[in-house]
Amino acid sequence: MTHIKTIPPSIEQAAEENKQRWKDWKWQVGHSITDIKTLERMLDIPLSDTERKDIQKTCDIFPMSITPYYLSLIDTHDPYHDPIFKQAVPSVGELIIEDYDIHDPLGEDADSPCPLITHRYPDRILFLISNTCAMYCRHCTRKRKVGQVSSIPLEEELEAAYSYIENHPEIRDVLLSGGDPLMLSDHQLDRILSRLRKIPHIEIIRIGSRVPVVLPFRITDNLVSILKKYHPLWLNTHFNHPKEFTDDSRNALAKLADAGIPLGNQSVLLAGVNDCPVIMKKLVQELVKNRVRPYYLFQCDLAEGLAHFRTPVGKGIEIIESLIGHTSGLAVPTYVIDAPGGGGKIPVMPYYLVSWSSNKVVLRNYEGMCTTYQEPSSYEGVTCDLRCESCVLQHSIDEESAGKRAQGIEALLSDYENDITILPADLDRISRRADGD
Ligand SMILES: *Cc1c(COP(=O)(O)O)cnc(C)c1O
Repeated sequence: MTHIKTIPPSIEQAAEENKQRWKDWKWQVGHSITDIKTLERMLDIPLSDTERKDIQKTCDIFPMSITPYYLSLIDTHDPYHDPIFKQAVPSVGELIIEDYDIHDPLGEDADSPCPLITHRYPDRILFLISNTCAMYCRHCTRKRKVGQVSSIPLEEELEAAYSYIENHPEIRDVLLSGGDPLMLSDHQLDRILSRLRKIPHIEIIRIGSRVPVVLPFRITDNLVSILKKYHPLWLNTHFNHPKEFTDDSRNALAKLADAGIPLGNQSVLLAGVNDCPVIMKKLVQELVKNRVRPYYLFQCDLAEGLAHFRTPVGKGIEIIESLIGHTSGLAVPTYVIDAPGGGGKIPVMPYYLVSWSSNKVVLRNYEGMCTTYQEPSSYEGVTCDLRCESCVLQHSIDEESAGKRAQGIEALLSDYENDITILPADLDRISRRADGD
């Protein structure tokens, strides 16, 4: 076995001389670059004392770990402008904390009923089954937790999470995340997946993993044969730039797709990496070519250490504007802001509805053409009283789905709720009212 000390000076040589083991994912993980000296040597970029000190200062707070494979994608002639470099190598920018940065920006800790679970939405949960990643993305929203503990959660934490899911029959969708769930061993994953599949109300299982991008060799035949036992199982991965497509990553995606796993992609909009309509169009087209459906494009959130990656929201709108109509609808992700304070993902898309009257809407298309849609002169909508069993539309809806009351804005639109407003909890104006409400 080759140890890090014997790795030759450059990443090209390392790849060449370790050909045998290069595609062994455990070798890759064992030889991850975690210190600055090795980084300098592998990339052949001599750093100044100040640069070295700056990177070290950043690493002390937010640790570094890069697989040799991912590092090998960096353009060593111009590393500082390289999108792979920017996602993998610590920058002093991470030490800038803005006044408006938030320690736990998505309120995940607050919405957590037990250690490994975030339960925010009515019918699905986030289940963090791994504490580690193949590569520590510099733009990680859970940066605060990176490198904290051992890779697998404690057995009693897992048990508590299973009980929570079992006791909440409304949960039909379990999203496995972390860390990266695919950093667990085949055996550990098999155990967790089979345990979840014993819970009858779980309809779908989703895995969120960046492994196809940073450690494609992890997608082995054995792993895929385990995953496909637990269908319907979906996988969302995380490509941010067309440069992340290689023969190896394409091969990993093909194996997953061939196993019948529907693939999605969640990108993060990152200044200096992919904040460009041309790059994004290339990225989404490359994804679709590899049977991956672009799912979300995330606005970079307010986690501490991400200030230098953030773009204005307008940049995201501009990118979506450049995609809708210009390329396959299949290739267009939904641009979302994950709301600070735990509000969940909020879509922000360009407007196409320009104006409307009582019988017509005016729309614009991607070219700027304005058109009208004449609304029906006779539309007899069915007034909903929530009695699905006697409704003319739903002849065979199952009992469980029938008669569910609407919530939030959906309730304002419903026929059967009397509420005409939703009010913030602590309005002075309301407390001044004589009747108090
Ligand atoms: C993103 C997320 C989900 C899944 O959301 P979808 O829109 O269904 O993909 C579920 N729970 C939490 C806490 C999330 O952040």
